[in-house]
Amino acid sequence: MPEGMNPMDAMQGANSPTVTGNKGLQVEEPLIFEMDSPGKSAVDLPPAPETAGGDRLGGLKRKGRVGLPGLSEPEVVRHYTRLSQKNYGIDTGFFPLGSCTMKHNPRLNEKLARLSGFSDVHPFQPTKTVQGALELIDTLADWLKRMTGMPAVAMSPAAGAHGELAGMLAIRAALEARGDARSIVLVPESAHGTNPATAAAVGYKVRSIPANDAGRVDVDALKDALGPDVAAFMITNPNTCGLFERDMVEISAACHEAGALVYMDGANYNAIMGRVKIADLGVDAMHINLHKTFSTPHGGGGPGSGPTVLSDALAPFAPLPFVVKQDSGWHLVEHEADPACKGAGKTPFGRMKGYHGQFGVFVRALSYMMSMGGDGLRQASDDAVLNANYLMAKLSDVLTPSFEGPTMHEALFDDRFLKDTGVSTLDFSKALIDEGFHPMTMYFPLVVHGALLMEPTETESRQTLDVFITAVRALAEKARSGQAKEYFAAAPHLTPRRRLDETRAARKPVLRWTAPEATADA
Ligand SMILES: *Cc1c(COP(=O)(O)O)cnc(C)c1O
Repeated sequence: MPEGMNPMDAMQGANSPTVTGNKGLQVEEPLIFEMDSPGKSAVDLPPAPETAGGDRLGGLKRKGRVGLPGLSEPEVVRHYTRLSQKNYGIDTGFFPLGSCTMKHNPRLNEKLARLSGFSDVHPFQPTKTVQGALELIDTLADWLKRMTGMPAVAMSPAAGAHGELAGMLAIRAALEARGDARSIVLVPESAHGTNPATAAAVGYKVRSIPANDAGRVDVDALKDALGPDVAAFMITNPNTCGLFERDMVEISAACHEAGALVYMDGANYNAIMGRVKIADLGVDAMHINLHKTFSTPHGGGGPGSGPTVLSDALAPFAPLPFVVKQDSGWHLVEHEADPACKGAGKTPFGRMKGYHGQFGVFVRALSYMMSMGGDGLRQASDDAVLNANYLMAKLSDVLTPSFEGPTMHEALFDDRFLKDTGVSTLDFSKALIDEGFHPMTMYFPLVVHGALLMEPTETESRQTLDVFITAVRALAEKARSGQAKEYFAAAPHLTPRRRLDETRAARKPVLRWTAPEATADA
């Protein structure tokens, strides 16, 4: 090992101490195309018979290889199994990503979602053959309405952001129905990025409302901004700083007085379920991320489900389809022309999605709710808040909390503790990977500098949190020693790949493998 070299660095790349490039039992895995042995196959097929009369494809018969790699069955199995082992997920370790509610997903939910009566139904089946499935949708809707105290819920949105879209389209429809189309949506600085994006997608101009020193909406600034052109106020609560917006009742009243409606982003509902009755806050619409709060494996783009609870003012405009109970049984209202639509007093703004919504996620959510029970759900939000405050209490002296006082479901720190160390939030997060933890959310929310946002959720044990706390404390002290700038700049040291150019990977992804000989020819 060259003198002065970090022993961790010596293990990497050209300096790898192993002949193969493998590290321990972590195998350096090539692309499947690079493993190609032409002519090798996992199955033996007899050669295709010669067809009488020669080429029946008019000269279009393939002349070269198909281009699929030739491998044996064990090679294929090992390749994909190894790739699967490179994933880090909630089933492999602590995942403190703030704003994501990465909780354990009980296996019972999976078992129920896989029951053939649920997993084998088809959206084109006659409704009389899927009565149980429709009843399940209605039962889940009932739980959501009871928990929130809201009179209606749109079940079809496929994710949180999709639920926001449903809520905002309902708001637009309600305003248009009263002949009062308005053009502006107000959004606090601390809002989740999907809030202004949704308002803009629906065609509104977005105006930002500043936060006060306590990290909450500046209510006076909001009142000043309200006016006859304001259609709605969109607020995330608890907000992305992990703080409950204590002035919610006053905020909703001020909005209603000015003729505006209130959208509350409920993605952080895990902090308040069973504790806060949403209807009491004066909210008109709120989506619930079933895949976060009600336990469905998520990440990487799905699956999600974002039912949106609605006030009396918005209920008539809820999107199609919806389930109603009739004398003959459960019925799915799919069209405005269906007499049951008018019968239910509805004038839907339209439809969000093909079919009924994310049925598999519905099954998981209802299984979770029924197995937890009302008291269990309330206990879950209590424990989620307790865990976040435990992190806050144990880390406050070495990190810099952004706001004073207790937090809700997540603990927010900024990068003041790294001042003059030469270590950035990014470097710090990367060093956590070497310690065996997925980093927390970083650089979000934007209202504080170099944010580190940690959401432990209720499912982490005190033992797990203590190991995490020990690691974070040690890293913070190491960073503050002023002697470890290079160590942090080069982290992670122990992963198969290290600092990747994530921006270039996103902007200029290489999606096609090119055979070396083709490159040589070119
Ligand atoms: C996750 C999240 C969303 C978006 O939900 P998706 O299901 O990812 O579309 C919106 N707001 C907040 C506060 C969130 O945490």
